[in-house]
Amino acid sequence: MSHKSDIEIARDANKKPIQEIGARLGIGSEHLLPFGHDKAKVSQDFITSVQGNKTGKLILVTAINPTPAGEGKTTTTVGLGDGLNRIGKKAAICIREASLGPNFGMKGGAAGGGYAQVVPMEDMNLHFTGDFHAITAAHNLLSAMIDNHIYWGNALDIDPRRVVWRRVMDMNDRALRDVVTSLGGVANGFPRQTGFDITVASEVMAILCLATSLADLERRLGDIIVAYTRDRKPVTCRDIKADGAMTVLLKDAMQPNLVQTLENNPAFVHGGPFANIAHGCNSVMATSTALKVADYVVTEAGFGADLGAEKFMNIKCRKAGLAPDCVVLVATCRAMKMNGGVPKGDLGAENVEAIRKGCPNLGRHIQNVKSFGVPVVVAINHFVTDTEAEVQAVKDYVESQGSEAILCQHWAKGSEGTEALATRVAQIADAGVSQFAPLYRDEMPLFEKIETIAKSIYRADEVLADAKIRNQLHDWEEAGYGDLPVCMAKTQYSFSTDPHLRGAPTGHSVPVREVRLSAGAGFVVVICGEIMTMPGLPSVPASENIRLNEGGQVEGLF
Ligand code: ADP
Ligand code: MG
Repeated sequence: MSHKSDIEIARDANKKPIQEIGARLGIGSEHLLPFGHDKAKVSQDFITSVQGNKTGKLILVTAINPTPAGEGKTTTTVGLGDGLNRIGKKAAICIREASLGPNFGMKGGAAGGGYAQVVPMEDMNLHFTGDFHAITAAHNLLSAMIDNHIYWGNALDIDPRRVVWRRVMDMNDRALRDVVTSLGGVANGFPRQTGFDITVASEVMAILCLATSLADLERRLGDIIVAYTRDRKPVTCRDIKADGAMTVLLKDAMQPNLVQTLENNPAFVHGGPFANIAHGCNSVMATSTALKVADYVVTEAGFGADLGAEKFMNIKCRKAGLAPDCVVLVATCRAMKMNGGVPKGDLGAENVEAIRKGCPNLGRHIQNVKSFGVPVVVAINHFVTDTEAEVQAVKDYVESQGSEAILCQHWAKGSEGTEALATRVAQIADAGVSQFAPLYRDEMPLFEKIETIAKSIYRADEVLADAKIRNQLHDWEEAGYGDLPVCMAKTQYSFSTDPHLRGAPTGHSVPVREVRLSAGAGFVVVICGEIMTMPGLPSVPASENIRLNEGGQVEGLF
């Protein structure tokens, strides 16, 4: 059992030179662009050269509706990758990069936890290989060019009140949510109200994560709608002529980053779009490359399966031609208790009854994943406070649903704790029984796509949207955007749009507050509830306790 913090465990890691990790996947050192000794980008030439390789098995790790603490999807992704390697399989993991903002706000990194982590975790949680800085720069270049275009005569007739492209920064800073720019006189341009989002909420981030090549990246950047004219015609990034320079800024950021787990197994860490207004998965470049060099690829989708797995399947897989072979649904006794009505402060005490009450939440996620035609296995991520009776209650429930649950102890024991899960997942993936299909066809009208998700995944009775929203969707269909998938943005804590409605609610409605077109990313964002695209810091931010110790090591980062 571990008494060390995540950062202490990570610091003790016996890392191998990144060239050794690359060699395991057949990536020669000439194709690794190293950042120090333990991180490297994989060259575009190498990626092009492996396109003819056979494709490995794709395993998605997702979860039940989480508790506010996070239920260990990344930890389980890392643990399963290590477990597969332990039983002799050639496996790689693919996860997202971390955003700086939340690191300095609330505790909790993005590199996994306990003995199932990716290292170097300090780097990964800080500047890493600079990808997010490049995305910030590319995004803000476009912002600057829009205002500059207006300043120099506005040949495109942009309505300054209808510039929809904001600015971004990778920091939680509520002071920048709404600002007025160009104050100070004639030389500074035309004052207008705008604001900042956090970098991970940038459409550039979503684009980088869905693009399949640099040419595709440039085309998608060009398609971004940045403003509207006085007669409401869209103005694109291509009209502003920023797409070429943005692609130049992003060319290195497009190359996936290779690092390693605590057990020296390969890990691709690349991209990190928001899981609400974007699709919440690591990049297509990383996942597709990993599938060409490993036999098994384990990847993660953000939030619970109602959001994360749904978007992974309906957006990422649909667009990238990927198909999962097996889904691992992470459940914890704690989250089952919370879904059964136990408040956060009482999760430590045994409560089998509450677990039984909360289990229908898990049951519905199992059914939902199966509705995509993909086999599913439940991983019970073991916490030291879980009792045997509680674990058994989850197992019994899952069995009663015609599925199987496997207890995993990777957080405390590393790969030894996921041997059973890895063995079963490999069996399922090898059996080739997955018959993956997205939930709806491209041709389905946009509003029907929303209804399909609301009814079959959330089990809502209806979708509520006023005429303005329906007309907007209709206009986009007329303009040729009707084939796009929809990207749902709602609370992750419930199947419904009410975060307090836990378990497996029925009979609810899904009210759509707003719809946004991410024409470059290639989806229509459907906002159901409050969505924050520039978070704030808490009253005592984690940054108050982050410092360098006398040995020059980072302290206070988790
Ligand atoms: P998610 O990816 O679902 O958001 P993470 O894997 O990042 O969750 O884990 C969230 C936090 O919970 C991390 O700090 C991690 O160390 C901790 N954690 C995960 N699994 C366990 C466990 N079995 N026991 C104790 N802490 C855990
Ligand atoms: Mg995670």
